Amino acid sequence: MKHTLLLIVLTGLFFSCKPSIEIIDKPIIFDETRTQLTLDYLSERYGLEQKEPVIDPKMIVLHWTAIPTLDGSFDAFERPTLPSWRPDINGVSGLNVSSHFLIAQDGTIYRLMPEKTMGRHVIGLNHCALGVENVGGTEDTPLTEAQLKSNIRLVEYLSEKYNIEYLIGHHEYTNFEEHPLWLEKDEGYRTKKTDPGPNFMEKIRKATKNLNFKPVPNKPKTQ
Ligand SMILES: [Zn+2]
Repeated sequence: MKHTLLLIVLTGLFFSCKPSIEIIDKPIIFDETRTQLTLDYLSERYGLEQKEPVIDPKMIVLHWTAIPTLDGSFDAFERPTLPSWRPDINGVSGLNVSSHFLIAQDGTIYRLMPEKTMGRHVIGLNHCALGVENVGGTEDTPLTEAQLKSNIRLVEYLSEKYNIEYLIGHHEYTNFEEHPLWLEKDEGYRTKKTDPGPNFMEKIRKATKNLNFKPVPNKPKTQ
């Protein structure tokens, strides 16, 4: 009897070692329009003809929104189409930007869309990349210690669920230009990104070393 009790206590301790994760679902609008624009994006940017706008997650990309508030950040992703989009003018795509997760400055983790649906958050790699946005990144709202902890826990959680090979900061995305995962067809379509910066990535990488992500490739030399 004594032994059984001890075993139960030990088992309880063993399973409680891993900190639990709380994720709050706060869905952005994913209607017919967004679904169609996502399918068009997969086809036009990547040459992937799919019936459903799904992805095979192999990478996690961390971001900051450069918007100081949770509401403001959520508003930027909520609508299906880019605010400036006009269907009569040809552009890259009218699909609004989005990300799978949004982490508030207090560390609360929100899930904005299903994990296996494509979000638009990183050129070239959206077909395999889970996006994690962090509220802030402006001069007055640097990323917080609570956000750092939540990012680490979320990366652990996603790595348990999917075969994640790479963990990158958005500022590192062009390093993948000659990588087999890079599918963007237009060489002229690039934006310069600085989020979330090398310091934040260094801390996250240190804390998730045991997950053995592959190293980020070196930036290809420009011809
Ligand atoms: Zn970003």
